[in-house]
Parts: sequence; C-alpha cells; structure tokens
Amino acid sequence: MTNGRALALKYLEQQRVLGGDAVILPTPEVTPGLRPGLVNPIPEPVVPTPGASPGKPEELPPPGLSFDPPSGDLFAADPVQQTHTLADIAALVADCTKCKLCEARTNTVPGEGPSDARLVVVGEGPGRTEDETGRPFVGKAGELITKIFAAIDFRREQVFICNVGKCRTPENRLPQYDEIAACVPYLHRQIDLLKPAVILAMGGTAAQTLLNTKQSLGALRNQVHRFRGIPVIVTYHPAALLRNPNWKRPTWDYVRIARDILDS
Ligand code: SF4
Repeated sequence: MTNGRALALKYLEQQRVLGGDAVILPTPEVTPGLRPGLVNPIPEPVVPTPGASPGKPEELPPPGLSFDPPSGDLFAADPVQQTHTLADIAALVADCTKCKLCEARTNTVPGEGPSDARLVVVGEGPGRTEDETGRPFVGKAGELITKIFAAIDFRREQVFICNVGKCRTPENRLPQYDEIAACVPYLHRQIDLLKPAVILAMGGTAAQTLLNTKQSLGALRNQVHRFRGIPVIVTYHPAALLRNPNWKRPTWDYVRIARDILDS
C-alpha cells in the first residue's frame, strides 16, 4: 500500500470515529536525502510504563461545557430514582425492556467497580464479549484500559467502569437516539450514587451523552467539562486506540489531566 493511500485510509477512519469535523493527520517529516514520496515511518507512540509517576501536575486545560440535568427525587414514580445502591440499579437493568435492545441481548452490562470509586469511566456500550460475560471493557479493549489505568497509578478494581448503553447493539452499531434516551437515566443515577471526583468519557457517544452536545470528540478534547459539577475529561475509546495506535500519546495526555484533577 502506498504511503498516500495509507494516509487517506487513516484520514477516513479518523473522520468516522471523530464524527467528521476534527481530523488529526500525522505530519510526516521527510528526511533529507530520501527520495521524493518516501517519508519517515511514524514513530510508535509511547505510553508510559505502568506504575511510572505521572509527573508533576501541569496547568489544567480550559473549562468546556457544563451539563446539569435535574436529578430525580426519591418521591418520583420512576423506580430508577428510588434506587439506593449500584446493585439496585443493576437489578433494574437486568429486567429492563425499555428499548428494543433487550430483545437480542445475552446479558445486560450495567457496569462494575467499587461504590466509592473516585474515577468513573464511561464508554459507549457493550460489545460481543461484554454481552457474553455481562462485564464492561473485557477482551483486548479491557487489557488496554487496564494499562491506561496503570499509567496513572490506578488498578482496574479501583475504577467504576460502565457504558451509556447497558445492552449490546446489533453488529455493534452506534446506539440510536431513542435507545440512549431510554437508557441514560441508569447512568445518571449511577453517577449520582457514586459521586466521583472525575469522569473519563471514552469515545464520542459517551462524551456527547454526558455533555448533552452534538460536538465531535475532536472538538471536546483537551477541556475540562462538567456533568452536575463533576469534571469530565474526554478521550478516545480503547477500541479506537486499538485501530489507531498513534492516538495513544494524546490519550495519555488526556488521562493525565484526569490524574492531575484527582491529585489536586
Ligand atoms: S439498552 Fe438500556 S434501556 Fe434498552 S433494554 Fe437495555 S437496559 Fe433497557
């Protein structure tokens, strides 16, 4: 494959993942002496060694969007608002038939992690392995997210990990508006109960849902947004990182912002 073709494919893939209006093409540097048309190989990005110090906190990026949807009250008829624990929410999710995704699921995937987690990670929705196991972020994406946590001195067991959608979509398509609208009260209630210090939104669907915006992931990165006052950092979904290893470095930068907020 020619280098130009490879770059064009990378461009299209980034557009697909980022939502169309933000594209980060690596600028290849031509080494003097190379024949025209030949470029240096793109260097493999460096993800810090797990356990390595994340370094001195740096100045935080500017504030971004703020979304503060009204919380339900305990007297509301909605059973989601009457839950008191994460297990209560998981039990409601297990029996949920509020959207058509209930029809083909094997398991619901409500999320997992400690109830006192300071860091909450929100992804898009379960994939095939998650649907089979009932657990979020397993398989290769799960291995990668475990490495990402290790890079900021977190163990997976310390983080609450969940998704916007709690049931798998057919062929892993993006969840539709009505499916997100039906499912998002579970996520909002989970965040209400957890009261984390930071939320890491991984991927465009998570970011757009948490911040109630249609802005692309590219436009939302590198800012400190707020959901009900809780800082929200936006970064790539691990599955996208597996397809685009050159996004690991910016992902590290965004994850380190989350670490800096936790340390501050
Ligand atoms: S995706 Fe959410 S709203 Fe739809 S059936 Fe599953 S738990 Fe219910």
